[in-house]
Amino acid sequence: MSGIPQLRAQIAAKTEQLYGRKLDPDTEVTVTSGATEALFSAIEAFVHSGDEVIIFDPAYDSYAPAIILAGGQAIRISMHAPKFDIDWNRVSDAMNEKTRMIILNTPHNPTGSTLNSEDMLQLSSLIRETDVILLGDEVYEHIIFDGRRHESLLRTPELSRRSLVISSFGKTYHATGWKIGYCVAPPDLMSEFRRVHQFVQFCVATPLQYALADFMASTPEHYLNLPNFYEEKRDQFCALLTSSRFRLTPSAGTYFQLVDYSEISSETDTEFARRLTTESGVASIPISVFYAAPPKQNVLRFCFAKDSDTLEQAADILCKI
Ligand code: PMP
Repeated sequence: MSGIPQLRAQIAAKTEQLYGRKLDPDTEVTVTSGATEALFSAIEAFVHSGDEVIIFDPAYDSYAPAIILAGGQAIRISMHAPKFDIDWNRVSDAMNEKTRMIILNTPHNPTGSTLNSEDMLQLSSLIRETDVILLGDEVYEHIIFDGRRHESLLRTPELSRRSLVISSFGKTYHATGWKIGYCVAPPDLMSEFRRVHQFVQFCVATPLQYALADFMASTPEHYLNLPNFYEEKRDQFCALLTSSRFRLTPSAGTYFQLVDYSEISSETDTEFARRLTTESGVASIPISVFYAAPPKQNVLRFCFAKDSDTLEQAADILCKI
């Protein structure tokens, strides 16, 4: 139910090596059906009627529906362009006795921003006197650029003892369609998590688990090359757009790049994205869809997890717009 032992052992070894957190694979690691199931199970396990959960807009789209389904309320705090960092004073103002959970996503989809060690200190001091649980969506932990360090919730005992941290084999091993991820948490939180996982999923496709366990054992260095692999794609995509009328600040992490199209059109981002897809054949996501109350901004999210030819063809089209 919690995942094959071989894969849980690999996850525990990797987590200890990366973040210095020693895990018991039997009680602190669960293999899930993608990060999607892990996020859902974690939210359903801990959020109950009347609870509040702080999330940051623009927010990955699965958080709010899961919170609402659990009977909770999503308290949405906006991050502001162009840096998309968190204003911890606003988090402090939003916290009260109903605050059950804070969901943190770093590196961040859709903005490509990352949290730094100062953010982690601010977070620690804010929650120190509370019972708030942290849910870390760290699926892009290895897709981080320009020498930045991924600030996992697992790095400090103070944060990790109240955290469920989620990752995705889909992102790290180029296997999005396999839908395998995992959740790491201390035993008391993990036993609650498994009560939901048991009836949402029970167990994840076994052959795929063996394949990933074998690959992790035979190619332990794989994820070390991932920052470079995607940084080259980011640099290629950004360089190709230099002569376009799109404006951008290179992403700090993830395989997403935000671009501002204010010089090209005053259409809303949903209108412009639709037109770009149907008329020019280049698909993007309008950033407004990740907000409860979108601010006025002309920004699209492109994905650069594509081969060089595709990036060149897309940029060719975008530079003519
Ligand atoms: N969280 C974030 C921030 C994501 O971008 C994604 C995938 N788009 C997921 C979770 C879900 O990951 P998985 O494909 O492993 O279910």
